[in-house]
Amino acid sequence: MSDRQDLHVVMFSGGASSAYVGKWVVDKYGKDNTVLFFTDTLWEDKDNYRFLEECAEYIGLEITKRVEGRTPEEVFFDIRFLGNARLAQCSEELKVKQTLIYIEELRLEGYEPILYFGIGPKEQHRADSLKRHYKHFPLEPVECRFPMIDSMSQEPKARHIIENEWNIDLPRMYKLKFHHANCAGRCVRGGLHHYANLYRVWPQRYKAQEEMEERFRKEFDADVSILKKDGKPYTLKYHRENVLEKMSPKELEEYAQRRDKEEEIPCFCSFS
Ligand code: SF4
Repeated sequence: MSDRQDLHVVMFSGGASSAYVGKWVVDKYGKDNTVLFFTDTLWEDKDNYRFLEECAEYIGLEITKRVEGRTPEEVFFDIRFLGNARLAQCSEELKVKQTLIYIEELRLEGYEPILYFGIGPKEQHRADSLKRHYKHFPLEPVECRFPMIDSMSQEPKARHIIENEWNIDLPRMYKLKFHHANCAGRCVRGGLHHYANLYRVWPQRYKAQEEMEERFRKEFDADVSILKKDGKPYTLKYHRENVLEKMSPKELEEYAQRRDKEEEIPCFCSFS
């Protein structure tokens, strides 16, 4: 048994569920024993920051923020590897490592962190994978808790409660029908349909991502891409010119809401 003092660290990701869990943890363990922890990739949508701040104010705790300092784009160029749905080193560098460093800092200060995630019963497999991760990767295992699975009698309607009882508007990306609300729609783990939604909603942001991909391909003279089709590289430029630009607004809207199997898997960053 560790003689460190328990500290309840809520993985405050910018989603409604993690905000709801943050309030639940503070009500149960008190503000002095709780931390709202957020790792910033510097790519988040500005309205996600607004949502985080308003929820933290409602809960009555300041956000403990860690910023590695690079954007995902800078990580890709530094490591000479363009993130994609299978391997996104940006998540590892900007979120996972920052969390592991924070865990060890807390232990040096005499605390034993317990991590809390806003994951519901429908995502038990994600909870299991997070438990495995935090058992093996820190210097000593870290306990992970999932109050929406283990401690609440029924899954709360977090979005409804935050909007109607806390009177806080949800992040605009929810209303704009993004399934990946991280990194302002630029998540490299998004798929063909996700990027169609980015093109539909924020064409300039799609263009920025497309230009980044083209710069990367040129600088490293490599046939690589964020998206894949039939297991092969499939660039955002090709997707825009040959698929998205040829659709009517209605077709684009319908296409953007479809999901391939792998697009249903939420990015690890959604919980951290
Ligand atoms: S949300 Fe996506 S792009 Fe952003 S850090 Fe995570 S994996 Fe990378």
